[in-house]
Amino acid sequence: MNQEPVMSENRYDVIVVGARCAGSPTAMLLARAGYRVLVVDRAIFPSDTVSTHLVHPPGVAALQRWGLLDRLTATGCPPIHTYAFDLGPFTISGSPGTTDAPVAYSPRRTVLDKILVDAATEAGAEVREGFNVSEVVFADGRVTGVRGDSRDGRAITEHARVVVGADGLRSLVARAVHPEQYLDKPRLQCSYYTYYSRLPMEGCYEVHLRPDRGFAAWPTNDELTLVIGGWPFAEFEANKRDFEGNYLKTFDLVPPFAERIRAARREARFIGSAVPNYLRKPFGSGWALVGDAGYNKDFITAQGISDAFRDAELCATALDEAFAGVCSFAVAMARYHSMRDQHVLSMYEFTTQLATLKPPPPELAQLLAAVHGNRAAMDAFVRVNAGVTSPTEFFADENVERIYVAAKKAG
Ligand SMILES: Cc1cc2nc3c(=O)[nH]c(=O)nc-3n(C[C@H](O)[C@H](O)[C@H](O)COP(=O)(O)OP(=O)(O)OC[C@H]3O[C@@H](n4cnc5c(N)ncnc54)[C@H](O)[C@@H]3O)c2cc1C
Repeated sequence: MNQEPVMSENRYDVIVVGARCAGSPTAMLLARAGYRVLVVDRAIFPSDTVSTHLVHPPGVAALQRWGLLDRLTATGCPPIHTYAFDLGPFTISGSPGTTDAPVAYSPRRTVLDKILVDAATEAGAEVREGFNVSEVVFADGRVTGVRGDSRDGRAITEHARVVVGADGLRSLVARAVHPEQYLDKPRLQCSYYTYYSRLPMEGCYEVHLRPDRGFAAWPTNDELTLVIGGWPFAEFEANKRDFEGNYLKTFDLVPPFAERIRAARREARFIGSAVPNYLRKPFGSGWALVGDAGYNKDFITAQGISDAFRDAELCATALDEAFAGVCSFAVAMARYHSMRDQHVLSMYEFTTQLATLKPPPPELAQLLAAVHGNRAAMDAFVRVNAGVTSPTEFFADENVERIYVAAKKAG
């Protein structure tokens, strides 16, 4: 085995580290725009990862724009047309989508990520699987490439005008470039998930929230149902020895669901996770960050995949503008940064509040009671959770007023 670093003659416009929801679409879009793109991942696809995989309608709309939705539906993944939030005293249910993108899907990550990797390859990006990046290469304070080990054990260095870190929560690229990090919040809840057969969901994403507990179930490929349940992170240590017993106990809080799951059969092992919450400045000299590498929030609202898709589009557009000389790299990337934050900040607050698993404060509880039973308001509320409507819009004074007026009229 040759341990000497091979200095590649290649020079790419962009090297993308990480080939899942953020990386492959970024690579695909840049390759479609005619750039020389290398995307590397230590995984070999199809590959699973620690993540459930609800893709809300905005994420589905991105797949449609990219011409990839048919591939997803061809896998038999069932559409999800209803979201139902059981808040204890009542359930708010409605349609999560819009006319253009009416439904959600929840493809297994083995399915979704493979579709994305293949699409990057077809677009002309060079995809190197089984390639582990060990180091980010700098010259005069600027990122110029990456060094890593290929599948056959060779150490290779590759250079590009820009290195994009799409390498997830534990991003090596982010660690190397030390981006400004802001609005950090600690891990708020921890959850465990697995898959069941014989638990039909009839196209519904079902969420049950109780003080200090929450669980959700929804359909995925192969006639399986994903069931995730969790508690505040403060209880992680106390509950970890018997996480399975504690997971099963949460269902007893909702007896009709407990009965359904007792009739179902578990088909996979449990996977558990808890994640930190942060935003990072997503660009600097010779580098950019997309997806979880640049911004992460608790998975309770299942926004990460759709957010990663949006980052990919915004970042690829910004890089295209910078390369084409429409504006400077700094100006184009600052626009990407501000558009990302404009989109995610109110959802970040909403999600991190929800992830405490505390009962809603009295004012919110009162508003939700007024929403309940009002068809338009219930659709609007589930669309907040689907990332279709921003929390700022939903909780705006005029909208809240409208909801109370309608509730008063309904008596
Ligand atoms: C328990 C849990 C449940 C979730 N549920 C949902 C959900 O239902 N819906 C939703 O939208 N989001 C969900 N999320 C969030 C979602 O998983 C992420 O937001 C999404 O995967 C981000 O995609 P990404 O491409 O940025 O990163 P990742 O999917 O983490 O991909 C990063 C890739 O980079 C590669 N990589 C990392 N380091 C290196 C290296 N040094 N060299 C080479 N390759 C490297 C990894 O192998 C990996 O393939 C969940 C997350 C968790 C933890």
